[in-house]
Amino acid sequence: MTAVVPDRPVGGRLVDQFEYGLDAPICLTWELTYACNLACVHCLSSSGRRDPRELSTAEAEAVVDELQRMQVFYVNVGGGEPTVRPDFWHLLDYAVGHDVGVKFSTNGVKLTRERAAQLAATDYVDVQISLDGATAEVNDRVRGTGSFATAVRALENLAEAGMEDFKVSVVVTRENVSQLDAFRALTDRYGAQLRITRLRPSGRGADVWDQLHPTQAQQRELYSWLLANGDRVLTGDSFFHLSAYGEALPGLNLCGAGRVVCLIDPVGDVYACPFAIHEQFLAGNVRGEGGFQRVWQQSDLFRELRSPQTGGACTRCAHFDACRGGCMAAKFFTGLPLDGPDPECVQGYGETALAARDAALATPRSSLDHSHTGPVRGQPTLLGMPALPPARACDESPLAGVPLT
Ligand code: SF4
Ligand code: SF4
Repeated sequence: MTAVVPDRPVGGRLVDQFEYGLDAPICLTWELTYACNLACVHCLSSSGRRDPRELSTAEAEAVVDELQRMQVFYVNVGGGEPTVRPDFWHLLDYAVGHDVGVKFSTNGVKLTRERAAQLAATDYVDVQISLDGATAEVNDRVRGTGSFATAVRALENLAEAGMEDFKVSVVVTRENVSQLDAFRALTDRYGAQLRITRLRPSGRGADVWDQLHPTQAQQRELYSWLLANGDRVLTGDSFFHLSAYGEALPGLNLCGAGRVVCLIDPVGDVYACPFAIHEQFLAGNVRGEGGFQRVWQQSDLFRELRSPQTGGACTRCAHFDACRGGCMAAKFFTGLPLDGPDPECVQGYGETALAARDAALATPRSSLDHSHTGPVRGQPTLLGMPALPPARACDESPLAGVPLT
Protein backbone atom coordinates (compact mmCIF):
# COMPACT_ATOMS: atom_id res chain seq x y z
CA MET A 1 0.00 0.00 0.00
CA THR A 2 1.34 3.46 -0.86
CA ALA A 3 1.86 5.66 2.18
CA VAL A 4 -0.11 8.94 2.13
CA VAL A 5 2.07 11.93 2.94
CA PRO A 6 0.38 14.99 4.41
CA ASP A 7 0.95 18.22 2.47
CA ARG A 8 4.03 20.19 3.41
CA PRO A 9 3.00 23.45 5.13
CA VAL A 10 3.56 26.64 3.16
CA GLY A 11 5.67 29.16 5.07
CA GLY A 12 6.42 28.94 8.79
CA ARG A 13 9.50 27.48 10.43
CA LEU A 14 11.95 25.61 8.19
CA VAL A 15 12.11 22.69 10.63
CA ASP A 16 8.34 22.18 10.27
CA GLN A 17 8.68 22.09 6.48
CA PHE A 18 11.61 19.68 6.68
CA GLU A 19 9.44 17.29 8.68
CA TYR A 20 7.33 16.72 5.55
CA GLY A 21 10.34 16.12 3.30
CA LEU A 22 11.79 18.06 0.36
CA ASP A 23 11.87 17.42 -3.40
CA ALA A 24 15.62 16.78 -3.17
CA PRO A 25 17.77 15.93 -0.14
CA ILE A 26 19.81 18.72 1.39
CA CYS A 27 22.13 16.28 3.12
CA LEU A 28 22.90 13.43 0.76
CA THR A 29 25.70 11.11 1.77
CA TRP A 30 27.24 8.98 -0.93
CA GLU A 31 29.57 6.25 0.20
CA LEU A 32 31.66 5.43 -2.84
CA THR A 33 33.25 2.26 -1.56
CA TYR A 34 33.27 -0.14 1.36
CA ALA A 35 37.02 -0.53 0.87
CA CYS A 36 39.17 1.04 3.56
CA ASN A 37 42.84 1.02 4.41
CA LEU A 38 42.07 1.34 8.13
CA ALA A 39 39.77 -0.64 10.43
CA CYS A 40 38.34 1.85 12.96
CA VAL A 41 36.51 0.10 15.75
CA HIS A 42 33.39 2.27 15.49
CA CYS A 43 33.01 2.35 11.70
CA LEU A 44 29.33 3.06 11.04
CA SER A 45 29.33 1.09 7.76
CA SER A 46 31.53 -1.85 8.90
CA SER A 47 33.88 -1.03 6.04
CA GLY A 48 37.08 -2.77 5.05
CA ARG A 49 36.70 -4.88 1.92
CA ARG A 50 35.49 -3.60 -1.44
CA ASP A 51 32.12 -4.91 -2.52
CA PRO A 52 32.43 -6.44 -6.00
CA ARG A 53 29.00 -5.04 -6.89
CA GLU A 54 30.27 -1.46 -6.40
CA LEU A 55 28.93 1.13 -8.89
CA SER A 56 31.19 1.40 -11.92
CA THR A 57 32.66 4.71 -13.01
CA ALA A 58 29.95 5.11 -15.67
CA GLU A 59 27.21 4.32 -13.16
CA ALA A 60 28.64 6.80 -10.68
CA GLU A 61 28.76 9.46 -13.40
CA ALA A 62 25.10 8.74 -14.18
CA VAL A 63 24.24 9.33 -10.51
CA VAL A 64 26.04 12.69 -10.65
CA ASP A 65 24.08 13.59 -13.81
CA GLU A 66 20.88 12.81 -11.97
CA LEU A 67 21.86 14.86 -8.93
CA GLN A 68 22.62 17.76 -11.25
CA ARG A 69 19.13 17.46 -12.78
CA MET A 70 17.60 17.37 -9.29
CA GLN A 71 19.63 20.44 -8.31
CA VAL A 72 21.40 18.72 -5.45
CA PHE A 73 24.12 21.29 -4.96
CA TYR A 74 26.35 19.33 -2.58
CA VAL A 75 27.01 15.73 -1.79
CA ASN A 76 28.85 14.36 1.24
CA VAL A 77 31.16 11.68 -0.05
CA GLY A 78 32.50 9.01 2.26
CA GLY A 79 33.06 5.29 2.53
CA GLY A 80 34.97 3.24 3.46
CA GLU A 81 37.85 5.42 2.40
CA PRO A 82 36.72 7.11 -0.82
CA THR A 83 40.23 7.96 -2.02
CA VAL A 84 41.16 4.28 -2.42
CA ARG A 85 38.81 4.11 -5.41
CA PRO A 86 41.09 4.45 -8.43
CA ASP A 87 38.55 6.76 -10.11
CA PHE A 88 37.98 8.93 -7.01
CA TRP A 89 39.78 12.02 -8.35
CA HIS A 90 38.06 11.68 -11.71
CA LEU A 91 34.63 11.42 -10.04
CA LEU A 92 35.40 14.46 -7.91
CA ASP A 93 36.22 16.51 -11.01
CA TYR A 94 33.20 15.09 -12.81
CA ALA A 95 30.84 16.11 -10.00
CA VAL A 96 32.25 19.62 -9.69
CA GLY A 97 32.12 19.98 -13.48
CA HIS A 98 28.42 19.10 -13.31
CA ASP A 99 27.52 21.65 -10.61
CA VAL A 100 27.52 19.14 -7.75
CA GLY A 101 29.91 20.32 -5.04
CA VAL A 102 31.73 17.64 -3.06
CA LYS A 103 32.47 17.47 0.64
CA PHE A 104 34.46 14.37 1.27
CA SER A 105 35.61 12.61 4.42
CA THR A 106 38.95 10.89 4.52
CA ASN A 107 41.40 9.39 6.97
CA GLY A 108 44.06 11.42 5.15
CA VAL A 109 46.30 8.53 4.12
CA LYS A 110 46.24 9.60 0.46
CA LEU A 111 46.31 13.37 0.99
CA THR A 112 49.80 14.03 -0.26
CA ARG A 113 51.15 17.53 -0.84
CA GLU A 114 50.24 17.22 -4.52
CA ARG A 115 46.66 16.18 -3.79
CA ALA A 116 46.32 18.92 -1.17
CA ALA A 117 47.46 21.49 -3.76
CA GLN A 118 44.97 20.08 -6.27
CA LEU A 119 42.14 20.40 -3.74
CA ALA A 120 43.15 23.94 -2.80
CA ALA A 121 42.92 24.89 -6.47
CA THR A 122 39.45 23.38 -6.99
CA ASP A 123 36.26 25.29 -6.22
CA TYR A 124 33.24 23.63 -4.63
CA VAL A 125 35.30 20.98 -2.88
CA ASP A 126 35.52 20.65 0.85
CA VAL A 127 37.46 18.04 2.77
CA GLN A 128 37.19 16.74 6.28
CA ILE A 129 39.85 14.72 8.02
CA SER A 130 38.64 12.20 10.56
CA LEU A 131 40.31 12.28 13.95
CA ASP A 132 38.90 10.78 17.13
CA GLY A 133 41.47 11.94 19.64
CA ALA A 134 43.38 15.18 20.09
CA THR A 135 46.38 13.04 20.99
CA ALA A 136 47.80 9.96 19.30
CA GLU A 137 47.14 7.91 22.41
CA VAL A 138 43.38 8.53 22.38
CA ASN A 139 42.94 8.59 18.61
CA ASP A 140 44.94 5.49 17.79
CA ARG A 141 43.08 3.33 20.28
CA VAL A 142 40.02 3.76 18.08
CA ARG A 143 41.37 4.40 14.59
CA GLY A 144 44.54 2.32 14.62
CA THR A 145 48.24 2.71 15.29
CA GLY A 146 49.80 5.57 13.34
CA SER A 147 46.48 7.04 12.22
CA PHE A 148 46.92 10.23 14.28
CA ALA A 149 50.27 11.00 12.66
CA THR A 150 48.79 10.31 9.23
CA ALA A 151 45.83 12.63 9.81
CA VAL A 152 48.05 15.41 11.15
CA ARG A 153 50.30 15.12 8.10
CA ALA A 154 47.23 15.56 5.91
CA LEU A 155 46.23 18.66 7.93
CA GLU A 156 49.73 20.08 7.44
CA ASN A 157 49.59 19.41 3.71
CA LEU A 158 46.20 21.12 3.39
CA ALA A 159 47.30 24.13 5.43
CA GLU A 160 50.55 24.48 3.45
CA ALA A 161 48.64 24.29 0.20
CA GLY A 162 46.46 27.20 1.30
CA MET A 163 43.25 25.17 1.45
CA GLU A 164 40.59 27.18 3.26
CA ASP A 165 37.80 26.08 5.56
CA PHE A 166 38.66 22.41 5.61
CA LYS A 167 37.28 20.43 8.53
CA VAL A 168 38.43 18.09 11.24
CA SER A 169 35.66 15.61 11.97
CA VAL A 170 35.48 14.07 15.42
CA VAL A 171 33.17 11.36 16.74
CA VAL A 172 32.58 12.28 20.38
CA THR A 173 33.32 9.36 22.68
CA ARG A 174 33.73 8.70 26.39
CA GLU A 175 37.51 8.88 25.82
CA ASN A 176 37.67 12.23 24.04
CA VAL A 177 34.91 14.42 25.56
CA SER A 178 37.52 15.92 27.85
CA GLN A 179 39.58 16.91 24.77
CA LEU A 180 37.04 19.23 23.14
CA ASP A 181 39.12 22.33 23.88
CA ALA A 182 42.23 20.54 22.65
CA PHE A 183 40.43 19.72 19.39
CA ARG A 184 39.60 23.39 19.01
CA ALA A 185 43.22 24.35 19.57
CA LEU A 186 44.38 21.74 17.06
CA THR A 187 41.96 22.88 14.35
CA ASP A 188 42.84 26.55 15.00
CA ARG A 189 46.50 25.68 14.51
CA TYR A 190 45.80 24.56 10.93
CA GLY A 191 43.14 27.15 10.10
CA ALA A 192 40.57 24.37 9.99
CA GLN A 193 37.07 24.13 11.41
CA LEU A 194 35.94 21.59 13.99
CA ARG A 195 32.99 19.34 13.25
CA ILE A 196 31.82 17.00 15.96
CA THR A 197 29.38 14.13 15.53
CA ARG A 198 27.64 11.68 17.74
CA LEU A 199 28.71 8.05 18.15
CA ARG A 200 25.84 5.91 16.90
CA PRO A 201 25.54 2.18 17.53
CA SER A 202 25.63 1.49 13.77
CA GLY A 203 27.92 -0.96 12.00
CA ARG A 204 30.94 -1.81 14.16
CA GLY A 205 29.84 1.09 16.37
CA ALA A 206 27.32 -1.32 17.89
CA ASP A 207 30.18 -3.48 19.21
CA VAL A 208 31.81 -0.63 21.12
CA TRP A 209 28.84 1.58 21.92
CA ASP A 210 28.56 0.41 25.53
CA GLN A 211 32.24 1.13 26.09
CA LEU A 212 32.51 4.37 24.18
CA HIS A 213 29.27 6.33 24.25
CA PRO A 214 29.45 9.33 26.60
CA THR A 215 28.11 8.93 30.12
CA GLN A 216 25.18 11.07 31.33
CA ALA A 217 27.64 13.36 33.14
CA GLN A 218 29.68 13.72 29.95
CA GLN A 219 26.57 14.52 27.93
CA ARG A 220 25.87 17.39 30.32
CA GLU A 221 29.50 18.52 29.92
CA LEU A 222 29.15 18.33 26.13
CA TYR A 223 25.90 20.32 26.21
CA SER A 224 27.51 23.11 28.26
CA TRP A 225 30.49 23.13 25.92
CA LEU A 226 28.23 23.38 22.87
CA LEU A 227 26.27 26.24 24.42
CA ALA A 228 29.55 28.11 24.92
CA ASN A 229 31.24 27.13 21.63
CA GLY A 230 28.52 25.89 19.30
CA ASP A 231 28.56 28.93 17.03
CA ARG A 232 32.08 28.02 15.91
CA VAL A 233 31.62 24.25 15.72
CA LEU A 234 29.66 22.24 13.15
CA THR A 235 27.36 19.52 14.47
CA GLY A 236 24.76 18.77 11.76
CA ASP A 237 21.90 16.93 13.44
CA SER A 238 24.15 15.11 15.90
CA PHE A 239 23.20 16.47 19.27
CA PHE A 240 19.64 17.73 19.11
CA HIS A 241 18.64 15.18 21.76
CA LEU A 242 20.71 17.29 24.19
CA SER A 243 18.29 20.20 23.66
CA ALA A 244 16.03 18.47 26.21
CA TYR A 245 18.38 19.93 28.85
CA GLY A 246 16.80 23.31 28.14
CA GLU A 247 18.12 25.56 25.39
CA ALA A 248 18.01 24.48 21.74
CA LEU A 249 21.42 23.94 20.14
CA PRO A 250 22.46 25.22 16.71
CA GLY A 251 22.00 22.69 13.87
CA LEU A 252 19.13 20.64 12.51
CA ASN A 253 16.90 19.87 15.48
CA LEU A 254 15.08 17.00 13.85
CA CYS A 255 15.77 13.50 12.62
CA GLY A 256 16.04 14.17 8.91
CA ALA A 257 16.09 10.52 7.81
CA GLY A 258 14.24 10.20 4.51
CA ARG A 259 13.07 13.81 4.86
CA VAL A 260 16.17 15.85 4.11
CA VAL A 261 18.84 13.18 4.67
CA CYS A 262 19.65 9.90 2.92
CA LEU A 263 22.47 7.62 1.90
CA ILE A 264 23.51 6.10 -1.41
CA ASP A 265 25.76 3.18 -0.53
CA PRO A 266 28.61 1.83 -2.71
CA VAL A 267 26.36 -0.64 -4.56
CA GLY A 268 23.69 1.99 -5.21
CA ASP A 269 21.29 1.04 -2.43
CA VAL A 270 19.46 4.04 -0.99
CA TYR A 271 18.93 4.11 2.78
CA ALA A 272 17.08 6.66 4.89
CA CYS A 273 20.27 7.69 6.68
CA PRO A 274 23.99 6.84 6.63
CA PHE A 275 23.62 5.43 10.14
CA ALA A 276 20.73 3.17 9.18
CA ILE A 277 22.26 0.57 6.88
CA HIS A 278 19.66 -2.12 7.47
CA GLU A 279 17.02 -3.62 5.22
CA GLN A 280 14.28 -1.94 7.28
CA PHE A 281 15.54 1.44 6.06
CA LEU A 282 16.34 0.42 2.48
CA ALA A 283 14.18 2.44 0.09
CA GLY A 284 15.48 1.26 -3.32
CA ASN A 285 18.50 1.28 -5.61
CA VAL A 286 19.78 3.89 -8.04
CA ARG A 287 20.14 1.13 -10.66
CA GLY A 288 16.35 0.63 -10.64
CA GLU A 289 13.90 2.23 -13.04
CA GLY A 290 13.59 5.95 -12.36
CA GLY A 291 16.96 6.00 -10.62
CA PHE A 292 17.64 7.92 -7.43
CA GLN A 293 14.97 10.54 -8.07
CA ARG A 294 12.22 7.98 -8.07
CA VAL A 295 13.48 6.41 -4.84
CA TRP A 296 13.74 9.79 -3.13
CA GLN A 297 10.40 11.12 -4.26
CA GLN A 298 8.24 8.02 -4.45
CA SER A 299 9.48 5.17 -2.26
CA ASP A 300 6.96 4.02 0.31
CA LEU A 301 9.55 4.10 3.07
CA PHE A 302 10.49 7.73 2.54
CA ARG A 303 6.85 8.75 2.22
CA GLU A 304 6.15 7.05 5.55
CA LEU A 305 9.10 8.74 7.26
CA ARG A 306 7.78 12.13 6.13
CA SER A 307 4.78 11.95 8.42
CA PRO A 308 5.19 13.84 11.70
CA GLN A 309 5.39 11.60 14.78
CA THR A 310 2.01 11.55 16.49
CA GLY A 311 2.24 8.66 18.96
CA GLY A 312 4.58 6.87 21.32
CA ALA A 313 6.05 7.61 24.72
CA CYS A 314 8.09 10.61 23.54
CA THR A 315 5.09 12.63 22.33
CA ARG A 316 3.85 12.68 25.94
CA CYS A 317 7.18 14.05 27.18
CA ALA A 318 7.39 17.71 28.18
CA HIS A 319 10.67 18.01 26.23
CA PHE A 320 9.43 16.54 22.95
CA ASP A 321 9.37 19.85 21.09
CA ALA A 322 13.04 20.37 21.91
CA CYS A 323 14.37 16.88 21.39
CA ARG A 324 11.88 15.22 19.03
CA GLY A 325 12.65 11.83 20.54
CA GLY A 326 16.26 11.79 19.33
CA CYS A 327 17.95 9.62 16.73
CA MET A 328 16.06 6.88 14.90
CA ALA A 329 19.21 4.88 14.16
CA ALA A 330 20.40 5.01 17.78
CA LYS A 331 17.06 3.64 18.94
CA PHE A 332 16.85 0.96 16.27
CA PHE A 333 20.33 -0.48 16.76
CA THR A 334 19.92 -0.60 20.53
CA GLY A 335 16.63 -2.48 20.17
CA LEU A 336 14.37 0.37 21.33
CA PRO A 337 11.02 1.32 19.74
CA LEU A 338 11.31 4.10 17.16
CA ASP A 339 8.60 6.20 18.82
CA GLY A 340 10.17 5.87 22.29
CA PRO A 341 13.11 7.64 23.92
CA ASP A 342 16.61 7.85 22.52
CA PRO A 343 19.02 5.48 24.34
CA GLU A 344 20.93 8.59 25.47
CA CYS A 345 17.78 10.51 26.50
CA VAL A 346 19.04 13.19 28.85
CA GLN A 347 16.02 12.75 31.13
CA GLY A 348 17.16 9.17 31.81
CA TYR A 349 14.20 7.47 30.07
CA GLY A 350 16.54 5.82 27.58
CA GLU A 351 18.48 4.02 30.29
CA THR A 352 15.23 2.79 31.79
CA ALA A 353 14.06 1.55 28.39
CA LEU A 354 17.40 -0.19 27.76
CA ALA A 355 17.18 -1.95 31.10
CA ALA A 356 13.61 -3.07 30.33
CA ARG A 357 14.50 -4.68 26.98
CA ASP A 358 13.66 -8.32 26.59
CA ALA A 359 17.05 -10.01 27.00
CA ALA A 360 15.85 -12.92 24.88
CA LEU A 361 15.44 -10.67 21.82
CA ALA A 362 18.54 -9.94 19.78
CA THR A 363 19.16 -6.29 18.88
CA PRO A 364 18.94 -5.68 15.11
CA ARG A 365 22.19 -5.85 13.12
CA SER A 366 22.89 -5.00 9.53
CA SER A 367 23.38 -8.08 7.37
CA LEU A 368 26.17 -6.18 5.59
CA ASP A 369 29.65 -6.44 7.04
CA HIS A 370 32.67 -5.63 4.91
CA SER A 371 35.12 -5.69 7.81
CA HIS A 372 38.60 -6.99 7.11
CA THR A 373 39.05 -10.53 8.28
CA GLY A 374 42.85 -10.37 8.20
CA PRO A 375 45.44 -7.99 9.65
CA VAL A 376 45.25 -4.37 8.50
CA ARG A 377 47.82 -1.60 8.65
CA GLY A 378 46.90 0.68 11.54
CA GLN A 379 44.88 -2.03 13.23
CA PRO A 380 43.01 -0.63 16.21
CA THR A 381 44.19 -1.54 19.65
CA LEU A 382 40.98 -1.01 21.57
CA LEU A 383 39.32 -4.06 20.12
CA GLY A 384 41.50 -6.80 18.67
CA MET A 385 40.46 -7.90 15.19
CA PRO A 386 40.43 -11.69 14.78
CA ALA A 387 43.53 -12.81 12.88
CA LEU A 388 41.81 -15.23 10.51
CA PRO A 389 43.49 -16.38 7.32
CA PRO A 390 42.11 -14.42 4.34
CA ALA A 391 39.26 -16.22 2.56
CA ARG A 392 39.60 -14.11 -0.60
CA ALA A 393 42.29 -11.94 -2.13
CA CYS A 394 40.34 -8.78 -1.34
CA ASP A 395 40.47 -9.66 2.38
CA GLU A 396 44.14 -8.68 2.25
CA SER A 397 43.91 -5.77 -0.15
CA PRO A 398 40.68 -3.85 -0.73
CA LEU A 399 41.85 -3.17 -4.26
CA ALA A 400 42.63 -6.78 -5.20
CA GLY A 401 41.30 -7.44 -8.67
CA VAL A 402 40.62 -3.76 -9.46
CA PRO A 403 42.36 -2.59 -12.64
CA LEU A 404 44.52 0.36 -11.66
CA THR A 405 44.97 1.88 -15.09
S1 SF4 B 1 18.50 8.48 12.20
FE1 SF4 B 1 19.83 9.66 13.57
S2 SF4 B 1 21.65 10.06 12.35
FE2 SF4 B 1 20.01 9.47 10.93
S3 SF4 B 1 19.05 11.39 10.28
FE3 SF4 B 1 17.92 10.62 12.06
S4 SF4 B 1 18.87 11.67 13.81
FE4 SF4 B 1 20.29 11.83 12.10
S1 SF4 C 1 11.60 11.03 26.64
FE1 SF4 C 1 11.86 11.28 24.44
S2 SF4 C 1 11.25 13.43 24.01
FE2 SF4 C 1 11.59 13.25 26.24
S3 SF4 C 1 13.69 13.91 26.56
FE3 SF4 C 1 13.72 11.67 26.36
S4 SF4 C 1 14.11 11.25 24.19
FE4 SF4 C 1 13.48 13.41 24.38
